[in-house]
Amino acid sequence: MSDVSHLAFVALGANLADPLAQLRAAAAALAELPESRLLQLSSLYRTAPVGIRGQPDFINAVAAIETVLDPQQLLDALFVVERRFGRRREFHHAPRTLDLDLLLYDQRVVDSPRLSVPHPRMHLRAFVLAPLLEIAPLCRIPGRGTAAAWLPAVRGQAIQRLAE
Ligand code: ADP
Ligand code: MG
Repeated sequence: MSDVSHLAFVALGANLADPLAQLRAAAAALAELPESRLLQLSSLYRTAPVGIRGQPDFINAVAAIETVLDPQQLLDALFVVERRFGRRREFHHAPRTLDLDLLLYDQRVVDSPRLSVPHPRMHLRAFVLAPLLEIAPLCRIPGRGTAAAWLPAVRGQAIQRLAE
């Protein structure tokens, strides 16, 4: 940890056990992350699950977080929140009460066995791009240009912004 603060974007997703309430509670938990400050939370979005069938819809959002944690420390703090929400990892893509992904950390590139930043699939997911662009319209994804440039590629993915 250092004294310099960083700007991170975190994707929130839930599709079990009252996902709307889960998302709101998760946002409250993000506001309590150590050494960090929740700057902004996007609207909530409802999306059909990608790559899996027979599961309930997802509720998604993106948060902007100011932090002095380094990327791995921030991920560990996110895992603590995930576990607190009773996430189960039965199989890959299993339904989960809460999924927190670190999308971006400044314009840094991190490639370790446990952590890839930018999140390697973020530019392919409407449920990430839409809320991200809502709170950071000029956002850039290192190695991939502007986030906005990827929107046409995900236009086929059904996503609905929920009213407040
Ligand atoms: P996904 O979120 O892609 O559906 P999981 O949440 O189950 O899948 O994946 C969790 C694993 O992905 C963790 O073990 C974590 O170490 C790794 N991981 C790598 N990069 C990231 C990232 N940027 N954000 C969150 N988890 C990441
Ligand atoms: Mg995850």
